[in-house]
Amino acid sequence: MAQRLDGKRLAREVEDRLKVLVESSSAAAGRPPGLAVLRVGDDPASAVYVANKEKACGRIGVASFGAHLAAETPQAEVLAVIEDLNADTRVDGILLQLPLPSGLDEGPLLQTIDPAKDADGLHTLNLGRLLKGESGPRSCTPAGVMAMLKSQGIDPAGKRAVVVGRSILVGQPMALMLQAANATVTIAHSRTTDLAAHTREAEIVVVAAGRPGMIGAEHIRPGAAVVDVGIHRKPEGGLCGDVRADEVDPIAAALSPVPGGVGPMTVTMLLVNTVVAWCRQHGIDHNLDDLIV
Ligand code: NDP
Repeated sequence: MAQRLDGKRLAREVEDRLKVLVESSSAAAGRPPGLAVLRVGDDPASAVYVANKEKACGRIGVASFGAHLAAETPQAEVLAVIEDLNADTRVDGILLQLPLPSGLDEGPLLQTIDPAKDADGLHTLNLGRLLKGESGPRSCTPAGVMAMLKSQGIDPAGKRAVVVGRSILVGQPMALMLQAANATVTIAHSRTTDLAAHTREAEIVVVAAGRPGMIGAEHIRPGAAVVDVGIHRKPEGGLCGDVRADEVDPIAAALSPVPGGVGPMTVTMLLVNTVVAWCRQHGIDHNLDDLIV
């Protein structure tokens, strides 16, 4: 049976560290860290994700400055809200919850976020910094995956890694982070032929395709570490990922569960980005370097 890449447990451990740091440094900073999660429209999954993020802020003492705008809010108005948050000195991190309602163009809105407050690491400047190996806020999901691998002693250096998916949100930054950690990385996507031939070569497989159960025993080399980013609601209730865990579990050396794997770490890395921005703003030393990729 594979070692469990327990994101839920790691998220709790990291949150404990963040809580101590926030408690011990808020007086010196004169205020707690602040995160603004901006939601537009009524996508039900987004409502759950935003609520989880706000709850996580509450647990570690980060102030939430959430805004919820109606689906029909014009682009200029959303832009103005982001500009206000950029100027708000209580706010260290801004997250625009995606997807946006049709009619809004996410590109210019993400670009409007002050790169220093880009809690999701999706601003072009911060993606460019990742590409160049410069420091900056990193995309939360792949940064969470890196933290999970590290916490279990899985060092990507010298290993063959396959990332299934090439989105800007997950696949691309994931591949860059694994490469920066000295893995030899292949990115697979919907036009990849014979996916299994690629994944079977890999010692690390990160699956972020958004296709329930697409990766099974035939894709995995014995002893591989498999990280399942996918998250799907099953028709019969409950959640599943992109990996058929029952098949992969006996073959892999390590496997992240769904739920309880990448999801909780994504939220935690959002907090890490916010707290690090706050520390930088106030010249506070932090002990979070092991989480920064
Ligand atoms: P996108 O839909 O933006 O990207 C999916 C990627 O997978 C694309 O690059 C696509 O290729 C590729 N792909 C699709 N089908 C296949 C296939 N059959 N074989 C190989 N590659 C394929 O999704 P995201 O990256 O935003 O998210 C991926 C998954 O991760 C989703 O299930 C999402 O819900 C989940 N997620 C989970 C998070 C968490 O916190 N746990 C956070 C973010 C996402 P192409 O480019 O050719 O279209």
